[in-house]
Formats: sequence, structure tokens, C-alpha cells
Amino acid sequence: MLGSMQDWAMTLDKILDYSKAASPHREIVTRSVEGPIVRTTYAEVWSRAKQVTHALQERGIVTGDRVATLAWNSARHMEVWYGAMGMGAVLHTINPRLFPEQIAWIANHAGDRLLFVDLTFVPIIEKIADQLQTIESFIILTDRAHMPQTTLRNAVAYEDFIAGRPDAARWGGFDENTAAGLCYTSGTTGNPKGVLYSHRSNMLHALTANQPDCFGVKSSDVIMPVVPMFHANAWAIAFVGPMAGAKLVMPGAKLDGQSVYELLEEEGVTFTAAVPTVWLMLLQFLRDNGKKLSTLKRVAIGGSAVPEAVLRAFEVDYGVDVIHAWGMTEMSPIGTLGALTPEDSRKGIDERMRLKLKQGRPIFTVDMKITDDDGKELPHDGTTFGRLLVRGPAVAKAYFRNDGARRADGTALEADGFFDTGDVATIDPAGYMQITDRAKDVIKSGGEWISSIEIENIALGAEGVACAAVIGVLHPKWDERPLLIIEPAAGGQPTKEAVLAYLDGKIAKWWTPDDVVMVEKIPLGATGKINKLALREMFKDYRLPTAQAAE
Ligand code: ADP
Repeated sequence: MLGSMQDWAMTLDKILDYSKAASPHREIVTRSVEGPIVRTTYAEVWSRAKQVTHALQERGIVTGDRVATLAWNSARHMEVWYGAMGMGAVLHTINPRLFPEQIAWIANHAGDRLLFVDLTFVPIIEKIADQLQTIESFIILTDRAHMPQTTLRNAVAYEDFIAGRPDAARWGGFDENTAAGLCYTSGTTGNPKGVLYSHRSNMLHALTANQPDCFGVKSSDVIMPVVPMFHANAWAIAFVGPMAGAKLVMPGAKLDGQSVYELLEEEGVTFTAAVPTVWLMLLQFLRDNGKKLSTLKRVAIGGSAVPEAVLRAFEVDYGVDVIHAWGMTEMSPIGTLGALTPEDSRKGIDERMRLKLKQGRPIFTVDMKITDDDGKELPHDGTTFGRLLVRGPAVAKAYFRNDGARRADGTALEADGFFDTGDVATIDPAGYMQITDRAKDVIKSGGEWISSIEIENIALGAEGVACAAVIGVLHPKWDERPLLIIEPAAGGQPTKEAVLAYLDGKIAKWWTPDDVVMVEKIPLGATGKINKLALREMFKDYRLPTAQAAE
């Protein structure tokens, strides 16, 4: 017997419709690429997003067509986002930090028809425009006054693109399983792969990501996604903001410590989110200038593990609650969040910090398990590591165009329907998951595994260390041994002896790196994470002192 309730397709246009009805005057504030701070409201963004839809349809864009953006977080980016998704087109957010050749490869693979591009990226796109086979025209996200001289074909200023268009275009009216967004993984091995979100998956994910123990954003919050919209949906924040009716602050192109600080303070931000590198810059700025955070209450940190020094600085020095988040593009992206159980939140500070360094418990709708290489489930005892597998309505089942298929039906899943995250983790009896490594980064020493991430996080606490990376280096006796690579902080002079003495007693003896080397800069990848592939390449001929001794 079926229930007798109304049909209400879970399409994303309803989120912006709702914000127009329920929070029309709530502000969206952008640090524009042109320079000034620009203020608009949900009602205005709704109206201009409708104009975008109208203009897209004039260009012949129909449901299922891919429309791409290469843009920072801004109100205009939101307008294009909802204008495209609302009519059933697929909004493809491209990550501008990729190499230009990769951008061209991705745009061609996606079959993008239009590209909305920020002023910042026009020079990059001009260089690869000849390789962009499917893009018919380029819309520069600015007005006529700021329009640059450009060689891009059919280039038009965004404000001209929408000017005079009615705000009456029709949204929704299609199946909730229709594709809404496309985002490519950063492809550290092989070509990037496209994750094709649906309206339903994004809607469910935004609803669960904003549960009280998750982001818990209310209309009285002021929220700033520093995490870019091109990084896995800005972790759902471009949906959560209008859904909750919260004021939204978009930081544009300036993500340095001072610029982020100014927006946090001037706009009264209460909740923000980004990868750890952004917070390292902010904390450095706060310390160097003796500044405090007067309105910020919660910060979500994910994309890579939260270093203990960052966690303690926010929680202890600045009184800001850290929400440690783990996820991946294929999971829309949030899988777990680090809110403590009521029992654990009554524990002492050191125990709370230890638990918060774990990646947290799954959000509603995410099923998680750890297995050995044969697929046998491993115990949730907090010490046994295994491959981490997930399942849920916002987890990818296949990649765009069935790339990376594992099965004849084109899906990328294991036989039991779970998705292998490529991460190695423990799960403890209370349900907290802890990533011990990426499967490809784990260091295999004498048949046992060493977690590179854990050593890195501890090493970051040593005096004068700005960034730390651990990679496995070949060893004649143990197969691999850890090499610790350090980027000193400005003015810092960490030595091998001092760093090893700092690690002593904080990690198992046999995990102690066999050598410590200093480099000027640790390379970061397109999503701000340490680029281990580049480091392994840099150190491929490196001989550990212990290797010579073992021969
Ligand atoms: P990519 O894998 O292409 O870099 P993602 O942004 O989807 O892009 O990255 C997902 C991966 O990032 C996860 O599988 C995990 O290895 C890592 N990651 C994300 N959040 C965390 C976290 N809080 N702690 C440790 N690793 C994390």
C-alpha cells in the first residue's frame, strides 16, 4: 500500500525558491574579484539566477547540457549555479588550480558548452582556448566596465549576458534523479574522473550535512565557505546557506590570513569551513598581529587531517569549536564529522582533543565498514586498520562516462555495492573513524603499516615547522621506511635532532623516521593537500642513512 502524501521532487531549485520566500532580505556578501565588497540578498540572487536560466535557454542550452564555471566563491557564481541546475542543466565546477592542460582535458571530457570564467582566470583560458573543443562561448563574470581585452571567442560580460532578461524562467518539473552537478576528482593517479551528482543526492546530502551535530547552521548564523564551490560543492554550504536562511559571506579570490580575518570580523562570521592550509595561514596572521576572533563559534576543517596544533589553537587559544570533517568528491563530499558523543564531551581537554583528531562518526545516510584485502570485515576496536568502504544515497556508484568501472554494468563499486574510498582507517567501539592513511601513501615497513598522516600531524607541533610530509623510501631490509620532509616556518630553524627528539615518546619507536630533510617548499596539489606523488618523484633516488648501514 502506498502512502497518500504529495509528490515533491527533491530538486535543488526548491532551495533557492524557499530562501526567496522565507529569507528574502538575508544578505549574501562577496569580496568581488574587481575589489569592492558587494552586497546582495537571496531575493536578488533568485531573480538573477532566473535571468541566467533565461539567457542559457536563449543560447539553446537544454536539460542535461553541461555548463561550466571557473570561478571563486561569489554571489554571481551562486546565480550561475542555481540558474543552470534549476532548469536541469549540469553545472560543472572546474578547479582553477589544475594545470591548464588538465582543465582542457576535463572540459572536453565533460563536453561543456559554455564557460563562465572569473577575470582572474581569463589569461589561463586564453592560452588553452584552441584546445577547448566543445565550448561555444565564454561569459566573463564581470560587468562591461571591467571587461578585459580578450581573444576568447564570443566573449561576453556576465552582466550583459543577463541584462534585460525576464526572471520568469521555469525551474524544476523534472525527475529528482536528474543530474545537477559535475565535479572531477583531482586525479593524483591517472586522468581525473567525473562525479555526477543528482538533484536528489545533493538535496539529501545538504539536509543531513546540516543536522545539529553536523554543521548545525541556523538563520542567525553568518556563514563563510572558504572552501571553494569547485571543491566538491563547497561541502554543501551553497545549499545549506539558503536552506537555513543564513547570511552568506563569499571570500572571492583572497584567501590569505589577513583577508580571511577581515571578512570574519567585519561581517560577524559565526561558522566557516576550509582545508587546514587556510587555517594555518589565518592562525599565523592572528599570532603575528596579536588579533582575536570575536564572532567565530565553529569551524569545519577537512580535506586532509586536522593538525593537532591547529585544533588546539582554535579550541584553546581562540575558543572556537572545531568540526573535523572527512569525505571525498565521490561522497558529495561529507562522510564523517567529529562532533563528540555526550559522554565524550564531558571528558578532560586532552582526551577531547585526542578524539577530535579522529575524523568522526558517519553522518546520517552514510554506511561505513573496514575490511582486509579479501573483503573480510574487520572489528571496530579502534586499533585494527582496514580499507574503508562506504554506501549511501549521496555516494557515487559510477563515474561520468563510466570511467574507472569495476564491473560490467559500468559501476565503480565492489560486488556488495560498497564504494572503496581508497583510505585506510580504524573504527572504534563508539563509532569514531580515524584515517590512518591513503592506501597509496601508507608506509609498508617489514609487513606492518606506518601511518604517514599521524607522524606528519605530530611533527607539525615541533618548533619552527611550517609543514611536514612523510613518504616511504625504499629500504633493503624493511621494504620501506619513513622519510620526514620539513618546510621550516619563516625564521624557524628546526634541526633533524630537535624534530626527532620532539617525536620521541609521541609515536611508536619503529615509526620513527629514518631521516629528516628540510625543503624550501612542500608541493601542494590542486585542492591544497600535500602532493605526495611529487614528493616521491623528488626523493625517488634518495638513499636513507639506515639503508647504507643495512647493506
Ligand atoms: P582527491 O582525492 O581527488 O584529492 P578529494 O577532495 O575528494 O579529492 O579528497 C578525498 C580524500 O582526502 C579522502 O579520501 C581522504 O584521503 C582525504 N581526506 C579528506 N578529509 C580528510 C580528513 N579529515 N582527514 C584525513 N584525510 C582526509
